[in-house]
Amino acid sequence: MSEDQITTIGKCYACKRTFGYIPAKVMTITIDPETGVPPDMTVLGGQREPSPEALARSVKEPICPACVERARRFTT
Ligand SMILES: [Zn+2]
Repeated sequence: MSEDQITTIGKCYACKRTFGYIPAKVMTITIDPETGVPPDMTVLGGQREPSPEALARSVKEPICPACVERARRFTT
């Protein structure tokens, strides 16, 4: 078993539920902690050019399979 197959327990950014995931395989969303939304998105849900500062402070948050599924249904 290789290192990147180890399951980690974390909190889904979207629904705040705790779930187990493999860091190398989990779906993540990049979030700017200052605004709580992705750096290339405005708080109103629009698109914008991400600023270097926003990108630098952004962190990757895991998304659970249920939310990935819901988002997929939402966009298609
Ligand atoms: Zn979720």
